Amino acid sequence: MTAAAPCRPKQGAVPSGGSAAYEVASVGALLLGCIADDFTGATDLANNLVRAGMRVAQTIGVPEGPLDADVDAVVVALKSRTIAPADAIEQSLEALTWLQAQGARQIYFKYCSTFDSTFSGPVRGNIGPVTEALMDALADAPGGDFTIATPAFPDNGRTVFKGHLFVGEVLLNESGMQNHPLTPMSDPNLVRVLQAQMTRKVGLIDHRAVAQGEAAIRARMEELKSQGIQVAIVDAVSNDDLLRLGPALKGIALVTAGSGVAIGLPANFGIAPSMQASALPAARGLQAVVSGSCSLATQRQVHHFMQSGRPALGIDPLRIAAGVDVAAEALDWAQPLLADGPVLVYSTADPGAVKSVQGQLGVEDAGAMVERALSRIARGLVERGVRQLVVAGGETSGACVQALEIAQMRIGPQIDPGVPWCHALSPACGSGGGLHLTLKSGNFGTDDFFSKAFTLLP
Ligand code: ADP
Repeated sequence: MTAAAPCRPKQGAVPSGGSAAYEVASVGALLLGCIADDFTGATDLANNLVRAGMRVAQTIGVPEGPLDADVDAVVVALKSRTIAPADAIEQSLEALTWLQAQGARQIYFKYCSTFDSTFSGPVRGNIGPVTEALMDALADAPGGDFTIATPAFPDNGRTVFKGHLFVGEVLLNESGMQNHPLTPMSDPNLVRVLQAQMTRKVGLIDHRAVAQGEAAIRARMEELKSQGIQVAIVDAVSNDDLLRLGPALKGIALVTAGSGVAIGLPANFGIAPSMQASALPAARGLQAVVSGSCSLATQRQVHHFMQSGRPALGIDPLRIAAGVDVAAEALDWAQPLLADGPVLVYSTADPGAVKSVQGQLGVEDAGAMVERALSRIARGLVERGVRQLVVAGGETSGACVQALEIAQMRIGPQIDPGVPWCHALSPACGSGGGLHLTLKSGNFGTDDFFSKAFTLLP
């Protein structure tokens, strides 16, 4: 089987609203071009690719110019999981066009490991429509006539067996996901779920073929194709299944999956795990933590940091609402302490306190106010010399990255599963400067994360 040939943009395949084709990258050509449907999911995928040996950059949205980093893979982070399907398609195709212009040899559409999508209610699933649009765009590329779909990542408790998704020990529709406010998942049969979102026929590569390895998987793909089936859910009950699946995906233009399948792809390009993949510039500067997550793990991490005797300042949302400039207060508090080691500024609170604040300010307004204050604090800290920044909270991370005007991050070594250190350029660092940052979503990380993270940077 030959390696995937570079897929170049089709004539006229410029992003809607774009005026011309993107410039082709001047640095080394890209091997894997990834499109992720949310921000922390993008980091999760990037982290897996780095651990498998690829040098990876993550971009916040579709970049306006050519790639300016010498990497093997780029993950374009979109926020398209729960937006209208037409918008998700438009953004994903724009990302595809940009990735093709950088020479990407294979495209990876990354979605949630619980296959978050639905075809009923106000939010319609985007996995099927985006997959179909990407397949249409890649139809003429070598290996563009077939793709796979699997959210499996057994080491993280996501297994697929006979096309049914399990979360830990239970089926998807008994995992709590049936009650998700935006994407309730009431059917664990992924063949059925995806088929309801697509016009192309969906089939199954089951565990027996996967257990036999590349030749059997390829044979099953050919069998499905002969039946007019162009998309297959793939079973995986162990990470070894994913590693067996990897070689069978060589030469396929589009892979769609959670982050798990990524562990088996770098080897297709002759890449093996190495320390170099996660190498970042040497760490320097002051250290700080900004925490807006109220998840249980983060509550423990805040507690642990304070117990260790490090300085910590809590932010009161009611004082923000009363017009107090808590960001300026926090920065004045932090300034003299920074030289002695990491400081923590947090709004993290227990559910009772959060509910009380939300009752007084409204859920959305409370969240937005806190995010604005914390992101101003993050920016202010960096302007005061912080160059190693830990941010806790998915939405909080999004707000901080925006305030720091970060467009692209290089992915470095893992601190805890799913959470790597990154390096990014930011105007807040002054001319040409960069900082190390890690973006930890809610329930990730061990209790000592806020201290441990800094010890892991060279
Ligand atoms: P996680 O990853 O744990 O879900 P997020 O940052 O995504 O964390 O979400 C936490 C949300 O809660 C943010 O919108 C944040 O602004 C808000 N928030 C943080 N602290 C408080 C608080 N004390 N009261 C009310 N809302 C808060």
